[in-house]
Amino acid sequence: MSANKKLLVLPGDGIGPEVMREVRRVIDWMEHRRAARFSIDEGLVGGAAIDATGQPCPDATLEAARQADAVLFGSVGGPKWDSLPFEQRPELGILRLRKELGLFANLRPAVVLDPLVDASSLKPDVVRGLDIMIVRESTGGIYFGEPRGIHKDAAGKRVGIDTEVYSEDEIARVARVAFDLARQRRNKVTSTEKANVMQSGRLWRAVVSEVHKAEYADVELEHMYADNAAMQLCSRPKQFDVILGSNLFGDVLSDLAAALTGSLGMLPSATLGAVQPSGKRHALYEPIHGSAPDIAGKGVANPSAQILSFAMLLRISFGMEEDAKLIETAVEKVLGGGLRTADIMQPGMARVSTSV
Ligand code: ATP
Ligand code: MG
Repeated sequence: MSANKKLLVLPGDGIGPEVMREVRRVIDWMEHRRAARFSIDEGLVGGAAIDATGQPCPDATLEAARQADAVLFGSVGGPKWDSLPFEQRPELGILRLRKELGLFANLRPAVVLDPLVDASSLKPDVVRGLDIMIVRESTGGIYFGEPRGIHKDAAGKRVGIDTEVYSEDEIARVARVAFDLARQRRNKVTSTEKANVMQSGRLWRAVVSEVHKAEYADVELEHMYADNAAMQLCSRPKQFDVILGSNLFGDVLSDLAAALTGSLGMLPSATLGAVQPSGKRHALYEPIHGSAPDIAGKGVANPSAQILSFAMLLRISFGMEEDAKLIETAVEKVLGGGLRTADIMQPGMARVSTSV
């Protein structure tokens, strides 16, 4: 196996290591067909790292992530570490990685696989064949802007304050991610904001339009108020290809889109950083779901989200489109054959364990 790309695997806690084991089986299969053109390193993160080193994201893990071309992340946290003070919690493992690697663009595909069309919260005809990509800005906006906090006003009443701050560079770089993805897909971007009532929304719309005009005139661009986008996602979701949004609106819209697809156990995600002068781009791939302590160790977790996160990694970070597609098709075939983990169980289907 030649090793021109470096993969860092961080299984973490709870069901993380269980579902990651299934990815290792997929990699074994790739090695068997000589398709695995990358080297693999494994590291500690979350509670597992706290137990071993006292830190949720040890420096060695951060350094390995910097060196890697892509990180495949499991999940972190669990009751064992719940009583630790906030600054020592397992969740800080992922937060440190996101911050240090500058991962500003969170990509969440919402795909309805044919065998799971009945698992959607919408009618089958509305979602059959759905394939959208949500791009959420993930390092700026109202979750970080200053001033923030709970203060007392002149009358001694409490006032809660959050501030949405976006610079034009922050908007432009995440817009480029959305336009680049659209070019590989159905060539359409829907940019969402509330330009009617928010100044940051006005700037968002203006900058996205400028980037479009200067660099991506071949891509179709539409602007939509975020509240309208939420309604359209529920009524006519198939009109969308790539949806772009701020940290807040992207968060809300991607959870809504997730509900259209059925199970948490099926959904992958990616978070990308800036393209560096060397051409390298930091990227971390992880399932949407958490460490699911309620089912950890029972061998019943659905490994699909982790496996599909790996497929996304192969496509985006390693340029291995064919292998990504093969893996996605394999997942769909297994479901199509009527095999189900408990989270996506339907009448008449065969219940299987994590490692079918
Ligand atoms: P986090 O805060 O890390 O997102 P959480 O507790 O909010 O964690 P999850 O850990 O994702 O959420 O679990 C939510 C529910 O979904 C649990 O009942 C869990 O068992 C179930 N679940 C999550 N992932 C899977 C999976 N891969 N397969 C089956 N069930 C899952
Ligand atoms: Mg959660």
